[in-house]
Amino acid sequence: MENTINYGIDLGTTNSAIAKFVKGEVNVFNNPLDYGRATLPSVVMYRKDKVVVGSKAKEFLERDPKSVVGAFKRRMGTSVSYKIAAIDDTKTPIELSAQVLMELKTFVNTGDELDAVVITVPASFDLIQSNATKEAGALAGFRQVVLLQEPIAASLAYANMKKERELTDGQWLVYDLGGGTFDVALIKIRDGEMRVIDHEGDNFLGGADFDQMIVEKLVIPKIAAAYKFTDLEKEMKSESGKYNAKYYVLLRRAEEAKIRLSALPMAEIVVDGFEDEKGNEVDMEVTISQSEFNALIRPSVDATLKMIQNILTRNSVPAIDLQFTLMVGGSTYIPYVRQEVADVLGVPVNCEIDPTTAVAVGAAYYAATKAREVKKSKINLAKKAPLSFKASYNKASKEKDELFAARVTGEVEGLFYKIVRQDGGYDSGLKKLQERISEDLPLVQGAFNFFVLTVYDSQNNIVPTDIEPIGINSGFAISGQPLPEDICLEVDDYEEPGSTKLALIFQRNTILPTKRTMSFPLNKSIVQGSTDDVLHINVLLGSHTALPEANKSIGYITIAGKDLKRDVSKGSDLEITLNLSESQDLSVAAYLQMADQEFKQTFNPKERHTPIDLLKQQVRDLAKKLEGELREANQKDDAETLATLNRLQSEMTVVLMETENLSDDDVTDKRYQLEDRKRKIAQELDAATKHKRVQKVKEEYFQAKKRCEGLIDANGKDHERRIFADIVAQEPVFLASLVPGKIREKVDEMDSISSQIEWRTPDHLIGVFNWLTSQLRRMSDQEQGQGLIDQGKSAIHGQMWDRLRAVNYELFDLLPKGAREEVNTRIGFGM
Ligand code: ADP
Ligand code: MG
Repeated sequence: MENTINYGIDLGTTNSAIAKFVKGEVNVFNNPLDYGRATLPSVVMYRKDKVVVGSKAKEFLERDPKSVVGAFKRRMGTSVSYKIAAIDDTKTPIELSAQVLMELKTFVNTGDELDAVVITVPASFDLIQSNATKEAGALAGFRQVVLLQEPIAASLAYANMKKERELTDGQWLVYDLGGGTFDVALIKIRDGEMRVIDHEGDNFLGGADFDQMIVEKLVIPKIAAAYKFTDLEKEMKSESGKYNAKYYVLLRRAEEAKIRLSALPMAEIVVDGFEDEKGNEVDMEVTISQSEFNALIRPSVDATLKMIQNILTRNSVPAIDLQFTLMVGGSTYIPYVRQEVADVLGVPVNCEIDPTTAVAVGAAYYAATKAREVKKSKINLAKKAPLSFKASYNKASKEKDELFAARVTGEVEGLFYKIVRQDGGYDSGLKKLQERISEDLPLVQGAFNFFVLTVYDSQNNIVPTDIEPIGINSGFAISGQPLPEDICLEVDDYEEPGSTKLALIFQRNTILPTKRTMSFPLNKSIVQGSTDDVLHINVLLGSHTALPEANKSIGYITIAGKDLKRDVSKGSDLEITLNLSESQDLSVAAYLQMADQEFKQTFNPKERHTPIDLLKQQVRDLAKKLEGELREANQKDDAETLATLNRLQSEMTVVLMETENLSDDDVTDKRYQLEDRKRKIAQELDAATKHKRVQKVKEEYFQAKKRCEGLIDANGKDHERRIFADIVAQEPVFLASLVPGKIREKVDEMDSISSQIEWRTPDHLIGVFNWLTSQLRRMSDQEQGQGLIDQGKSAIHGQMWDRLRAVNYELFDLLPKGAREEVNTRIGFGM
């Protein structure tokens, strides 16, 4: 049993593959049932007595679509279950993925116990989808599952093929267009270390969409024109539709035609085997030309190019600085795709790696650097070797030498050992074995280094031990995987009472694993033992500068009165510690200082619900909000915002219409696609109107600054001048940040200097004193109040301002709680 994971799986939407790292090389296992193919179609078929996965299942899709499922990766992380007619039961995307993983296990003929694996996920997979993938791995019997983002995997495959010597420092894009998802990532290499700088992606853009477009936009209209049908498209796409099975036949034929079009100028699709409404047999051939096909997919390809532009702009990388665009995924075989990407960027496309196995290969390279955590099974422990080694060394290293150390248990007396590098370039020579040994092992740079330690007796007979080959990766190390989206908490917005805002916990592209502790004042009191008093803290995925509704909720930290040991009051400290693992397991500990109590929760939400009626409601709400903003922008004659809002409005109209047209049993992925589009509109709306909110708080800032400046000129002290000057010096940064909260902080700082100064100015002190005098009747001790008022009057008379300030404070203390808050807002009683 090796001490690193070594196995990598590309669990693809359309095709999956498994590879193993062995002594510096990666071997992709062949599909034993599909001669010559290294990939397994990710399609599962159920029969009464068996489950079939792969090509056989794919062939059955059209004969028995109700018992065959494919492309379920696109629904990973949703609550969808697939109805399977043959077994009269339902299966989740997780269960179906587990079937694919188990099938891949049968490819492996090494005799290894397959219980630890690296599985790849799109860079755009969020925490929920990642958790669902890990769950599928667990269900398939893997006891350790490490996730790796696909663009990193592809880059690792490429870099290891090239070896460091041939690669220079620089950057490239990974363009992965598969069957179901599109991903683009910006990769940077510096000093032999590879980093993912940023990524963009769309979980609903890929070859399967092209097949669908061929059927819906080219084939169905031609059938409908030649024969008599009322609503052929609906009858095909709806699960209960009359021609639902035919739809799958056409999809397969469209895919075959599409693949032929990658090499030929024309392709035909045969349409037959059903009757129209007049009883005429449908029998025709639809011919598609390459240029027709290119025109059809142009909007999708343009969308991928726009994402590339976004990523480059966001990271201030001009296209010319890229070495190349690494093409991955079966759909990059399409000549038009290669050509457009090359033309638009003006950078060569790199098609050197096999686009369909690269991800599995990279996963295996990565697996070779990951330690196995799962315990070896009992059987292995039972036949314990006479000599036992406990080795320690870095499995990935950029050094010239790496220290190897080991502790040996067993009888070492009279024994020798030797360490040899696999390529023959290093031999330690025969050395005396001791209880502790250590060696500096010289590494070949840019490669996987393998060393074998052998123990001999005095006659040079090999002595059995449990030591495994020593593998050290000096090839491309990756400096961790970036987080795909911000993770935030929803907290009360104290500036706009009644509304909430987002507090950033982990920023997008933070390298995982990561950990953070933050403190918040509790926004309500919780009475110990109470069942009604519950505090929910919403944890969300998505930009922290957005409005909470533009993001996805992944769960709530719940603190209930019944779980508390004592009462906690509003304003007391809540300390939240969040831990995020490399594979995106999020664990949260909430510590209530006042109760000295900790609440722990692990978030592994595996699905998100999108009932169609809820989606329809959300889309309508958003449309209404957008209309309101449009009206306001129109009144203000704000041309720039208006242009953006008008664009959003036309997108919204389409989304609204398509959502309203969804039937409740729609079998396609449309609802998830629409939900994503809705969220994107909400995000853009938020960004477009943020400007308005920023403007408002900017105005407040300049007012606060003006007031402060006046007070400082008249009455300021040196340290106040200094703080003021500091804030003014930071203006270029916080005013340009476009984050209302940041500017608001500065308004507060200005106000606090102002009120400090005001509290020294006689007019202000007299104003406060007069107001307090008028409140005598509400004071808790009126006699004392009257006494203080008399003292205050004589202080004013004698111009003893410090005395007057002290009197004000004492009078203030006699007021009931509500009145104190009133005085704060009425006259800025800044204490
Ligand atoms: P995934 O990553 O989604 O599992 P793959 O990278 O295996 O997908 O790509 C599968 C997609 O590539 C399918 O939509 C398939 O039709 C498409 N494809 C494969 N070969 C070609 C080709 N020669 N021309 C065009 N499309 C192709
Ligand atoms: Mg893929």
